[in-house]
Amino acid sequence: MGGFPTFPLLASRGCARRCSFCSIHTFYQSAPKKVVRVRKPVKVVEEMLYLLQHHGVRVILFQDDDFPLWDPAGRRWADELVGRIYDAGLVDRMIWKISCRAEYVEYDLFRKLRDAGLFLVYMCLESGTEQGLKVLNKEMSVAENVAAVRTLKELELNVSYDFMLFDPSSTFESVRENVLFLKNITGDGRAAALFSRMLPYGGTPIRDALKKEGRLRGDLTRPDYDFLDLRLNEFHRLLTPTVRPWIHRNGLNYLLDCAWDEFTTVTRLVRVWKVPRNIGGRCNR
Ligand code: SF4
Repeated sequence: MGGFPTFPLLASRGCARRCSFCSIHTFYQSAPKKVVRVRKPVKVVEEMLYLLQHHGVRVILFQDDDFPLWDPAGRRWADELVGRIYDAGLVDRMIWKISCRAEYVEYDLFRKLRDAGLFLVYMCLESGTEQGLKVLNKEMSVAENVAAVRTLKELELNVSYDFMLFDPSSTFESVRENVLFLKNITGDGRAAALFSRMLPYGGTPIRDALKKEGRLRGDLTRPDYDFLDLRLNEFHRLLTPTVRPWIHRNGLNYLLDCAWDEFTTVTRLVRVWKVPRNIGGRCNR
């Protein structure tokens, strides 16, 4: 985050969900004990306060696989986190980003989080079609994805997301549906149209399924697969060099997305600058 001391932090690790393309569950399952571990809010806030006081960190990037908001216990955890952020005097002094599933996004909860410093929400939306969400085992609906984006925009929070224009169930029709979905959520210019193709990484259920179907291609380092409609292989091959210059790395879309993020982040941080640098706060209850 240009010019502002920024630091990654974990409030939890692991994810209990089983998205078919994701190896996180498999990865954490290979270690003994719990797949998901959540830190006490008091410890998280102590660390935030330390980073602010000793290193001048103003922007925290929570790198949790799935920020722990998934059930009533998660909501209580979030309430306690917010309370401790207020108690520690961190509101308007630090801002923070989280990654989470779209179905957790509720207006009241996220308004509370926003008021306590949340500025950016990264969600793995993945697909704008019901069939795509099913194949990816997202256990959620297109409507939930759309509602989450709408709520975050209403709250004037920055929205970022992961989206797979192509997945193993793709057809020409589903690609069209996905493009319309992207247009729907980005048409107002408040988020970039970012997309990729699902790749069957090692340790994922979808890789095993593609292997069984005889559609797996490439190897562990360059995983690939055939679409059900082989004409889509050719379409994807032709499309990639066309969109790459404006959607990848230094492409126009990517740069505009970064510029928008920087602008909205700086806007939030201006409030931070107005606060005296005499940083106090208590975080010891
Ligand atoms: S994609 Fe996200 S929600 Fe799904 S298993 Fe991986 S971390 Fe969990």
